[in-house]
Amino acid sequence: MNTFLKAGLWFLTITLSSFPCAVSAQAPAQVEEYQSPPPHLHANLWMQTSAEYQALCRQTFNTAIREIKQRMKAAKRRQGRPIGPGKKPLAVVADLDETILDNARFQSEMDAVVWADRMDIGYSRGRWEQWERANAEEVGLLPGAGPFVAEVESLKVAMVYISNRLESLKDGTIRALAHNGINTQGLQDITQGRLLLSDGASSKQARIKQAEENFHVVAFLGDNLNDFPGETEQATNPAERIAASRKKAESASDLWGTRWFMLPNPVYGNWDQILPKTVKERMDLLKRANNAEFVKAK
Ligand SMILES: [Mg+2]
Repeated sequence: MNTFLKAGLWFLTITLSSFPCAVSAQAPAQVEEYQSPPPHLHANLWMQTSAEYQALCRQTFNTAIREIKQRMKAAKRRQGRPIGPGKKPLAVVADLDETILDNARFQSEMDAVVWADRMDIGYSRGRWEQWERANAEEVGLLPGAGPFVAEVESLKVAMVYISNRLESLKDGTIRALAHNGINTQGLQDITQGRLLLSDGASSKQARIKQAEENFHVVAFLGDNLNDFPGETEQATNPAERIAASRKKAESASDLWGTRWFMLPNPVYGNWDQILPKTVKERMDLLKRANNAEFVKAK
């Protein structure tokens, strides 16, 4: 049986067991019927099935386009294009994965392999690179992302993409965008600076600075705090790293929804990477998350 089918059957079992009365009024509750699905699967299901996720994405794109149009009012024009200070062309900077591009199929593959083999941890850099290289036609778009990009470009505002997809696999990324009807004209041309991929480094700050040198950036969109300008303070332990991330988010409180726009991603991200690794440590963190000492660390 293939892994997707197995995962589907498992999900069906869980779904049916959530409504035991529909199966048998007398059936005794089994402990395993009430087990939560693994966290990655649960979060993945939320992104792939919930109306709430769809609504949040559209809310973010709708707010962003409204604010971009406000910025347009203050912009001068040069050769039919809006320009900002220093005669820089206006641009929107967007991350790609889970900001414009939807890798739901890849995430489901991770859940399927973990379900098939509980010793398999799912994500690996190699699996992701294989996805980037060979599965461009299976990549989708976030709800509302296509119309958003089209509307930005109809205003003659440049779309600049800053992604940690690899420069060496650029063709796959451009294919993924083109397959979804996103304008890819000029993306291959590095002198245009509209597609800034990773040479292996994960920090985007140098590429964000590069974009800001070439364009007057009116909006940033991402699903990760590191998609936005400003390095997060370094810290040694999880509580301090969480505090440093929150500090960056809170210090930009006026920018959220006006210049910076966050898409929801509970499946993966730096928020997950900075958590402690064991369930026990995570439970301990939960206990401490709202006490005075932890709050003080913020
Ligand atoms: Mg992303």
